[in-house]
Amino acid sequence: MCSPKILVCVDFDNTLVDCNTDVEIKSLLNGKEIPEEIESLSKVSKGWTAYMRELFKFLHKNNVTKEDYIQCLIQLPMVQGMRELLLQMYESGDCEIIILSDANSFFVQTILRHYQVNGTITKIFTNPAEFDKDGCLQIREFQNQTSCSRCPPNLCKGSILANYISKRMVEGVPFCRTLYIGDGHNDVCAALQLTVNDFVFAREGYRLLRSLEKMPSKNVKPTLVPWKTVKDIRDVLLSS
Ligand SMILES: [Mg+2]
Ligand SMILES: [Zn+2]
Repeated sequence: MCSPKILVCVDFDNTLVDCNTDVEIKSLLNGKEIPEEIESLSKVSKGWTAYMRELFKFLHKNNVTKEDYIQCLIQLPMVQGMRELLLQMYESGDCEIIILSDANSFFVQTILRHYQVNGTITKIFTNPAEFDKDGCLQIREFQNQTSCSRCPPNLCKGSILANYISKRMVEGVPFCRTLYIGDGHNDVCAALQLTVNDFVFAREGYRLLRSLEKMPSKNVKPTLVPWKTVKDIRDVLLSS
């Protein structure tokens, strides 16, 4: 470990939790089919947040309550060992941990609170979501960006990460190194922001690793570490 601090960026779905929360939440429909006009939104490229917005409305129409959401979310497992890793990194005092996720603030916060790790996270970047007075979960896009074509308009993880690092620098908190832990295609942009001092932990069998491995190695500057279990991440952390 080094001083100043290490910035640790963690993705949420399939990285912190061992599933995709946007998919798991559909179980609240108890097998009831999602209408084609909603389902088709999920196939429009860059339309994921619009799809989730309509899905939440449909859940509301089917009398799914906030409590139902909570009960569904809190039985979803974290990746084994991830909770302990977050606590260990936080307690070391060497790390500042942030979450970058294309899920939504309600899902992320509900799970972090349930596993009692919300105190380890300095900042969550995700689509804001809250229940309205009628009890329907309303989601909004985190941003509407057009400068990065690699990312969907609502969330460019690369620019969010770059902006965060410079903002903290201005605030007097420079980072000596950034670690990025992720799995998905939408983590690629953030991984490409990193430099030779940094590490990308890409989950084995998922798209982030496949995408980065396909690129010319000179384009991927951080050290790329495939991970299958949290031990693969911890081993590198303790030796670096
Ligand atoms: Mg993910
Ligand atoms: Zn991007």
